[in-house]
Formats: sequence, structure tokens, C-alpha cells
Amino acid sequence: MTATRVLVLNSGSSSVKYQLLDMRDSSRLAVGLVERIGEETSRLKHTPLTGGGEERELNEPIADHEAALKAVSAELTADGLGLDSPDLAAIGHRVVHGGLKFTAPTVVTDEVLAEIQRLVPVAPLHNPANITGIRTAQALRPDLPQVAVFDTAFHTTMPESAARYAIDVATADEHRVRRYGFHGTSHAYVSRETAKLLGKAPEDVNVIVLHLGNGASASAVRGGRCVETSMGLTPLEGLVMGTRSGDVDPAVVFHLARVGGMSVDEVDTLLNKKSGLVGLCGDNDMREIRRRVDEGDEAASLAFDIYIHRLKKYIGAYYAVLGRVDAVAFTAGVGENAAPVREAAVAGLEELGLAVDGELNAVRSDEARLISPEYARVAVAVVPTDEELEIAQQTYALVARFGDPS
Ligand code: AMP
Repeated sequence: MTATRVLVLNSGSSSVKYQLLDMRDSSRLAVGLVERIGEETSRLKHTPLTGGGEERELNEPIADHEAALKAVSAELTADGLGLDSPDLAAIGHRVVHGGLKFTAPTVVTDEVLAEIQRLVPVAPLHNPANITGIRTAQALRPDLPQVAVFDTAFHTTMPESAARYAIDVATADEHRVRRYGFHGTSHAYVSRETAKLLGKAPEDVNVIVLHLGNGASASAVRGGRCVETSMGLTPLEGLVMGTRSGDVDPAVVFHLARVGGMSVDEVDTLLNKKSGLVGLCGDNDMREIRRRVDEGDEAASLAFDIYIHRLKKYIGAYYAVLGRVDAVAFTAGVGENAAPVREAAVAGLEELGLAVDGELNAVRSDEARLISPEYARVAVAVVPTDEELEIAQQTYALVARFGDPS
């Protein structure tokens, strides 16, 4: 295959993040971000990573996704990396919700787009933006394969016992209510990299992956296949997050509506945007929370304790689901950087074979590494996630299978 570049696009409702990679060595050629699309204060930040180019910023109104992608294209062209290049093999799109149908990366056709559209009711914020991104990229390079890589795909191997809620089956099926899980590209990538770190094949290891970013989710991965994950119908379920509550009794919603007089939309906003760490202590950045904890701030300390308590519950639950655990892997902004979170989450679990070595845990590094002492039965690892690389690899593998597109 002569075309070796893949452009990865992550289109949100008012933003587009992008990376251009060369798949011969998985190197980044350029990365960037367009923010506040549709506003007066739009901004494009572009960083070329070859030829010694400097970060550039464009501050002018960008009306829509089409204008955003054209602006990105112009920046890439200025670096000799234009989207019209024959070296571009495909564009890989992050698509948040693939439902049950999309279990693997998929070349976008009209039918595929229609199915992503059909899933809008279960991903009202994300799928429309993803569709816009795909359509815009198609218009720019209609000859090029556009590949959809789904956040939910890795979790489609969950057994029904884990994926189904215990509610009326007919109602659930009519409205596609079940647990789908998200952050799938991260869980896939990190579970594989953890196996690599242990010197084993993914088929031979059982891993608990803790993706702790502003959004957070856990997964139980048996022999490379996901068997359980903490996010559900939407990303609201599970762990305590930056602004999301994670698990609550569903009756909290009825109570707030009936007794608190709140509308469904208000409760939705409360649980998704004003809860979690920010709801508990006013901050959602773990650095700030730790600083406050160290100063003796009570609200921050309680928020931290609630966060850790939930995390520990999930580690225990997934240990039981897997039966045998080879590794627990921490990833994403908090998981990769916050040593106190890793230490506290594993504290007291020695009977389960889990322990963290204080010195190893304190090391700061961008590399995947073990932080458990040698005697520990279960490896504890820090494994930096790389969702863009995973999307690029899946995209490239798919187009390579269908032959040289150039
Ligand atoms: P992500 O969503 O993966 O980008 O993670 C973002 C979150 O990571 C931020 O909200 C912070 O809470 C956390 N984070 C980033 N850097 C650090 C750090 N050095 N120490 C603790 N937490 C961090």
C-alpha cells in the first residue's frame, strides 16, 4: 500500500480534534483542534510535528463544520500535508454510538450513515456531530475511504447477563435500552498494551482497565474480550466522574421531579454536568482537589473519598466477574497522573494480591509501566491511552484489507 497516512477526526457538537499519522511508524505528522465552531470566538490550534514547524493559532469566526475542516485542510496544506495528497489512505472518524450492529470499524456507506442516524435517540449529543464530521469529510474527499470507529464496539462482546438491565424486556427492546459502554477504543488499546507490558498475548490475560479522565469508566477484559464495563445506555452510569454522578438509585430522578419540582432536562443537566467531583466540592480537576485535600479542605477530602470508594467497589466487582485477574491498568488524565488516586484505590486489597510500590507509583513518565511490587500476584500498571492511534490503526488495517486505495 503506497498511501500510508491516516487523518483521525473526532467531531464534537462545536469542536473538531484531529491528528494526521503516518502508519509506517505510527508517527504524528500534525495535531490540532478547532473550538467554538459557530461562535464569534472560534479558534483553530494547529501543530505541525514534522519539519520543525511551530504551533499556529487562527482566531476568526468559523461558521460550521465544513468551514472548520476547510480551515484544517488549509493548515495541513501549508505544511505540505494537504488532504488532496495521494499519501492519504483514509479518514478515521470517532463515532460515539454504534449500538449493537457495529462490532468493528466500518467503511462508511449511505446505509452505515443511516444506521448511525437511527442511533441518535440514544446518543443525542454525540452522533449528530459525528455524522456532520463524516459528511463534511466525504464532501472534501469523496474518493477516499471514510472509516467509522465506534466507542461502543469493544463492548459488544459483553454477555447478555452484563449488558441487560433487569427491566421489562419488551420495553427495553422497543427503546434499545441496554448497557452499551463507551471509551471502547481506549479500553481496547490499554488492555492490549497491558498484555504487551506483561510479555503476554492479549488472549492469555485478564485485565481490569480503569479509564479515569474527566469522564471515567472501568472494564473487565477476559482474554482480549470485554465482558463488563461500567458505563451503560449513556456515559452517565458507573464511576464518579468530573461532572457526572455515576451510579445513583434511579428513584433519585423521580424524587427530584416529584418532590424537588425539577424537569427531566434539569435532572439530566444536574446528573451529567453538575454532579460528580464538581458537584461534591466545586472542582473537577484532580490536581486542584488533591491540593485542597493536602490543605485539609473537608469538602475536597469527602469528594476524594467518595471517588475512591466507588473505584474500589468496581475493582472488587470486576475481580469477582473475572475470577482471575492478571493486571489492573490505570489510564487517562487522572489514571496516568494522579499517584494518590492509584495508591488509595488499591490500598487494603493485599488479600486480593493487589499492591502498589510507593516509589514506582511516584515516578512520572509517559511510558507504560508497572507500579506493583515484585511479590504482588496481580500486576498494577499505568498505561497511557492513545485513542487517536487506536482509531488510526483500526482504520488503516481495514483499508489495507480492502487493497490499496491510491
Ligand atoms: P482526560 O479526560 O483523560 O483528558 O483527563 C482530564 C483530567 O485529568 C483533568 O480533569 C484532571 O482531573 C486530570 N489530570 C490531568 N493531569 C493531572 C495531574 N498531573 N494530576 C492529577 N490529575 C490530572
